[in-house]
Amino acid sequence: MDVAVVGGGVVGLSVAEALARRGAEVVVLDAGAFGAGASAGNAGWVTPALTAPVPAPGTMRQAARWALDPASPLLVRPSLRPDFLRWSLRFWRSTSDAGYAAGMTALTALATRILDDYDRLEDLGVAFEHHRDGLLCVGRSAHAVAEELATLRETAGCGYAGAIEPLSRDEVLAQEPALQASAVAGGIRLPAERHVRPESLVRGLAAHLRGRGVALHEGARVDRLEAVRGRWRVHLPGAGPLDVDNVVVATGWESAALLAPHGVRLPMQGGKGYSVTVPAPSLVPRSPIYLLEDKVAVSPYEGGLRLAGTMELGSRSSDLNDRRVGAIEAAGERALGDWSAAGAQRWAGFRPMLPDGLPAIGPVPGRPGLHVATGHAMLGVTLGPTTGEVLAPTVLDGRPSLELAPFSPARFGNRAVPLRRRRRGAVRGGGADRPAAAAR
Ligand SMILES: Cc1cc2nc3c(=O)[nH]c(=O)nc-3n(C[C@H](O)[C@H](O)[C@H](O)COP(=O)(O)OP(=O)(O)OC[C@H]3O[C@@H](n4cnc5c(N)ncnc54)[C@H](O)[C@@H]3O)c2cc1C
Repeated sequence: MDVAVVGGGVVGLSVAEALARRGAEVVVLDAGAFGAGASAGNAGWVTPALTAPVPAPGTMRQAARWALDPASPLLVRPSLRPDFLRWSLRFWRSTSDAGYAAGMTALTALATRILDDYDRLEDLGVAFEHHRDGLLCVGRSAHAVAEELATLRETAGCGYAGAIEPLSRDEVLAQEPALQASAVAGGIRLPAERHVRPESLVRGLAAHLRGRGVALHEGARVDRLEAVRGRWRVHLPGAGPLDVDNVVVATGWESAALLAPHGVRLPMQGGKGYSVTVPAPSLVPRSPIYLLEDKVAVSPYEGGLRLAGTMELGSRSSDLNDRRVGAIEAAGERALGDWSAAGAQRWAGFRPMLPDGLPAIGPVPGRPGLHVATGHAMLGVTLGPTTGEVLAPTVLDGRPSLELAPFSPARFGNRAVPLRRRRRGAVRGGGADRPAAAAR
């Protein structure tokens, strides 16, 4: 095998697709079922307009206000765990003007190609539910609409090319009859945005990869990665190890453990979120709706309506929190009077959150053949296919890419961990930065 992709969520499967298309022999290993992590019940938005990093100037003040409201979109479970304290400190530092501007610039630049990458998946014959209905942002207050508009204009200043159309209250209600008049002060239409049914995307990618002869293994938890004579040994408890030239770690919020032994400090926290999916809704909005104050995403699907939201930090249990789910349902009732959660399927998942709000995509310095694709926070569906596109050439050529510099997995300060001396000439297909004789 040329490459083992560890983790079969939307990011891992997208990376596997981009690698297989370039002729690599790929195996994908997932501890559970493909797409059963964060990639299952999320809102499925593909939104190049909404790429502002989570840590922003003012986020800490807003978080303090929300801390007093038990039904707010943010819940922080304070913890004295050193990893949580380190993450929080780094997050706070990333809310500086300079940190936010750098993050915004990097994410918007990456996002300019998202829609083309989705079109390519369709052209390749990957079957998934894909909607091009735009996105409607709706505020109960003029203030919320103005704040969102300001952020969107910053994104446009960084290169977002889609239209941003402010709407009066009457225009919003005319465009979206499903909305309650009492829930609308104004809105913004973003006609270029899209959404997908994330379960169908993961299923479609897996089926496509199988069709191309990619080896896909579910129930295959990787517990260790070992550098052995210029290649990588992937350890799977209960099965023999697998030797490959390259590994891509795409294990979502659980990515830090596999990388730590190789000196990668990835301060990762799970940002727990919830969704409620009604299989046969009594009303279906014309397009996805973003309820600005509640931070709730409304996604209409073929035969279904999903509401998703909440950011719960410091939690590690996948239990459903009735109060949080109730807050999402209440937001739905306020905005869409006829909406009923009867018969709904409730879900919780963990967004992989790095404290600067950017994903980690790229090679691990000093570990030739080891790569990372994780930390996509609220943008894993949006950025999944693009992550594959930008990472695959680096994996196959072994050359670092300038485009990936802001997303380096080493940006949190790697520890130097010596590699065992490798056999001369042991690397197969190594690129310019993989000299076979190098001792690491
Ligand atoms: C409520 C909610 C709404 C969201 N809405 C959107 C949205 O509208 N648009 C958007 O772009 N993003 C959205 N997101 C974020 C998105 O869901 C994530 O960014 C994305 O799913 C992350 O994908 P992933 O492949 O990195 O991780 P995951 O989907 O979590 O996949 C990781 C996989 O790795 C496997 N794994 C873990 N450890 C191991 C191991 N040791 N060995 C083998 N396999 C392992 C797991 O089993 C899992 O299948 C939302 C998230 C939530 C919670």
